[in-house]
Amino acid sequence: MTTDWNFEATYLELRDIFYDRGPIHPVDNPTLVLFNDSLAASLGLDAQSVKQDIALLAGNRQTETSFSQAYAGHQFGNLTMLGDGRALMLGEHVTPNGKRVDVQLKGSGPTEYSRGGDGRAALGPMVREFIISEAMHALGIPTNRALAVVQTGEAIMRQGPKHGAILTRVASSHLRVGTFQFAAGAGSIDDVIALTEIAIKRHDPDLIDAPDCYEQFLGRVVERQARLIANWQLVGFIHGVMNTDNMFISGEGLDYGPCAFMDTYHPETVFSSIDRDGRYAYANQPYIGSWNLARLAETLLPLLGETKEEAVDVANKQLTRYTELYKEAYFTGLAHKIGLFVRKDGDDTLTNELLRLMVETEADYTNTFRSLTLGEMESLPFATREDGKAWLGAWRKRLSEQGLPDEDVSRIMRQYNPAVIPRNHHVEKAIQAAERGDFGPTEALLTILRDPYNYDHPPEYVSAGPPRTYPYQTFCGT
Ligand code: AMP
Ligand code: MG
Repeated sequence: MTTDWNFEATYLELRDIFYDRGPIHPVDNPTLVLFNDSLAASLGLDAQSVKQDIALLAGNRQTETSFSQAYAGHQFGNLTMLGDGRALMLGEHVTPNGKRVDVQLKGSGPTEYSRGGDGRAALGPMVREFIISEAMHALGIPTNRALAVVQTGEAIMRQGPKHGAILTRVASSHLRVGTFQFAAGAGSIDDVIALTEIAIKRHDPDLIDAPDCYEQFLGRVVERQARLIANWQLVGFIHGVMNTDNMFISGEGLDYGPCAFMDTYHPETVFSSIDRDGRYAYANQPYIGSWNLARLAETLLPLLGETKEEAVDVANKQLTRYTELYKEAYFTGLAHKIGLFVRKDGDDTLTNELLRLMVETEADYTNTFRSLTLGEMESLPFATREDGKAWLGAWRKRLSEQGLPDEDVSRIMRQYNPAVIPRNHHVEKAIQAAERGDFGPTEALLTILRDPYNYDHPPEYVSAGPPRTYPYQTFCGT
C-alpha cells in the first residue's frame, strides 16, 4: 500500500526554545536531479506523486509540521551554540506500518541558527552525501538516508559560484548528543527530561515504564554508538567531523561531508583539510565516540541519581561498557573478515599482526580482505615477505581448525568483506559530472554501491584508483 506524506511533529511538544518556525525561502527554478525510488517505497510513499511535488522538496511550500531544530555541540572540542542553520524539518512521516521518520531538507535557506551563513548547500556535497549514505545503507551500517536532490537553479558562492542544491534526508530522528547539550545548557532540568522522554518514545519505547529508564536509555545510546563506530572501522570509513552535533542518539551516521573510505591502510589517516591535529583520524574514532558519549552523560546527570556522586557512578557504569562493547564488535568483526567464525584466544593477535603487515606494505584496506576472501594471495603486497608468509601459514592453520571446506569459508567471508566501496576517485568523478549537469555517472556508481558484497562488478570499481602524488583531501564545505 502506498500513500502520500503523512506528517506529524511530536518534537513540537517540546518548549519553543527547541525550534525555530521562521519563514521559508522559496527558490525560483527547482529541478529534481536525484531520487531514491526504493527508499520512497520502503516509506510507503508513491514515488511518482512525491517526485511531482517538487515544491515540497525544494522548500517552496511550508507544512504545518515544519521547523528547524536548536542544538549545541562540541566542534573539535569547543562547545558552541549551533542549530539547523540550513535545514528545515518537513515533519515526522508516519509510514503505513506505523514507523516514524524525520524528513528534512538540507540547504533550504537561512534560519534563526544560520550564524551569518547563507543557509544553502552546493550540489557537489549533496551528491556526495547521497552517494555515501546509500553506500552505508547497502553495507548494512546504520545511517540516515537520502531521498532526493533538487537543484535550486540559483548560484551560491563558495570558492567561486556553485550550483545550489537541496537534499531531502530521512532519519529515524535528528536528535543529537548536541540536542541534549542544548537542553542542559540553555534550558532547565525539565527541558532535559522532556527531551529524554521524547527520545525514549522514539528509539527505546520498551523503556517507557522502566524505573531506571534514563540510565537504560544512556546504556542504549552507548550500545548503538559502539556498534556504529566498530562498523565504520571495519569498512575503513573515516567520518572526518565527529563533533557532538554530528552524533545521533539513534546510532545512525549522518553528515557525510569531509568523510571518505580509506584506500591505503594506515591508522593515522585523516582526509579532512580542517582536521590539522588529526582529532578525527581513523584510529581515534573509537575514542571520540566515547568522549562524545561522556558529553551526553553529563547532560543526563540530574536524572541519574539523588546526589551528584550517585549520578556520576551510574553514568560511569554505562560509559565504561562502551569500551567492552566496541572491542567485542570490532574484534569479532575482524575475525569474521578473515574467516574465523568463532573467536578464540589468539585470534586478536592474528588480526593485529595482519593490520601491522598492511601498514608496513601500504596495503589497500578493502582489497586486502577481498584477496584473502578470494584466495588470491599473489595480489597481497606482503605475500612474498617472510613475516607475510608466516602470517599466511598461521592463518591457514587456524582456519583448518574450524573444519569448514575452503569454499564455505570464502562464501561466508564475502558477507563480511565488501568487494566495492565508494572509492574516492569514483565519487569525485561522479560529483564533477553532476556539476556539469550529467547525473549518469552518479546513477551508475549508485547501482554498483547498492550491491557491495557482489564480487562480480567490473574491475574499475574494485581498483583503488590511480596512485596519488599528494594525499587525498576532503573539505567541509558545504
Ligand atoms: P555541519 O558541519 O554540516 O555539521 O554544520 C555545522 C553547523 O553549521 C550546523 O549548525 C549547520 O547548520 C551550520 N551550517 C553549515 N553550513 C551552513 C550554511 N551554509 N549556512 C548556515 N549554516 C550553516
Ligand atoms: Mg552537522
